[in-house]
Amino acid sequence: MHAEVVIVGGGPAGLSTALFLAHAAPWLTERIVVLEREHYPREKYCAGALGARADLALGRIGVQVQVPSVPVSGVAFQACGRRLDVRDGVIGRVVRRMEYDHELARQARARGIRIVEGAAVRGVRPGERGVTVELGGSELRARVLVGADGVASVVRRSLGFLPSRYRAQALEVDTEVLASDEAQDLLLFDSNHRELAGYYWDFPTLVEGRRMMCRGVYALSHDRERSTVQLQSVLERELERRGLQLAHYRKKRYAERGFEPHATFSQPRVLLVGEAAGIDPVTGEGIAQAVQYGAAAGAYLAEKLSLGDLGFSDWGRALRQHSIGRDLRVREWACALYYGPLRPHIERFLLDAPEFIRVGLRHFSGSPWGSGTLLRAGTRAALYTALLGLRGLPRE
Ligand SMILES: Cc1cc2nc3c(=O)[nH]c(=O)nc-3n(C[C@H](O)[C@H](O)[C@H](O)COP(=O)(O)OP(=O)(O)OC[C@H]3O[C@@H](n4cnc5c(N)ncnc54)[C@H](O)[C@@H]3O)c2cc1C
Repeated sequence: MHAEVVIVGGGPAGLSTALFLAHAAPWLTERIVVLEREHYPREKYCAGALGARADLALGRIGVQVQVPSVPVSGVAFQACGRRLDVRDGVIGRVVRRMEYDHELARQARARGIRIVEGAAVRGVRPGERGVTVELGGSELRARVLVGADGVASVVRRSLGFLPSRYRAQALEVDTEVLASDEAQDLLLFDSNHRELAGYYWDFPTLVEGRRMMCRGVYALSHDRERSTVQLQSVLERELERRGLQLAHYRKKRYAERGFEPHATFSQPRVLLVGEAAGIDPVTGEGIAQAVQYGAAAGAYLAEKLSLGDLGFSDWGRALRQHSIGRDLRVREWACALYYGPLRPHIERFLLDAPEFIRVGLRHFSGSPWGSGTLLRAGTRAALYTALLGLRGLPRE
């Protein structure tokens, strides 16, 4: 069998790449094949906090993913024993990935994109005239291949891309909502666990129509064993503080891959997108990024295929210049800063600067920042830095 464009992975990155490509080059639609290992609706361990910018991006090509969701209007940021709540209208929603990805796949199919479920790719082999995709017992020839197969990407491994510097683990459970859960419209980030390059979270969620709370821990880590123990102990303590027992809930743990700006994201005829390439290493946010990767890759592929230029040597540059690449570059820079020795000072600054957090919320939602908001946030950051310079770093 032969296809023009084979996309390995039917998560948000793979499906968005297919949708944006079909939008930019409608004549290719029937020659795009998405290979998905599982059958929809399939589970994906994820807390489901989705920035409204993903809905905006998909909305630009007429795709609306209508699934049960909890609307979110801001964040509660906890650090240094303090808490700051910042709201800014509806900034996004919390979805269940089982429903979200299923609906996105349904919409891709409705537009004529072929999705093969239960198609687990075992390996890929590049050749002069195309890429051979190995499925259990059969093979498929692709003119162009997109690796959208997530953190454990087979495409990435088969083609010898270097391992990532930013590896993370996340562990989560869904529990009942408690009277002590203060705000039902906020994403709570608790940065008090400084032993972790990460945080604890509480996100409101809807499980089969019932309001629940997804509680979890995210941390960067290179040592999977050690990180699992650490994550579990932090989650256990946080649940105990709330009068809950970790043992009573189904634990969902999975890895994540952070973006490295100068890594390689392509080979001739092959692109990596979404978590196969890398997402936000600071927070582990990756759904909206996956959609934005799809927007970037869809437009890029449409152009390259029309020119017959399949070397893809400039995909890394195109990605870095696209809004998703610029966003991830800033986050990679912020990651080193936030999880470094200045963390307590940055935390204190954030707690005193709701306008700075508001800029982040505007970015999350995809709404314009407004020059006033940006100016206030910039002035506050400049003053704080100048004060630190004059007085030196205060003791904790
Ligand atoms: C516990 C946890 C909580 C998270 N919470 C959030 C959150 O609240 N908000 C947020 O924005 N991000 C969150 N993330 C990150 C987010 O889930 C991912 O970044 C996002 O799913 C990446 O999308 P993707 O399409 O690149 O990859 P995936 O969603 O992983 O999709 C990859 C797809 O490829 C398929 N696949 C894999 N291997 C093969 C193969 N060999 N052959 C064929 N198909 C294959 C998989 O079945 C899957 O459908 C969380 C992650 C974890 C682990």
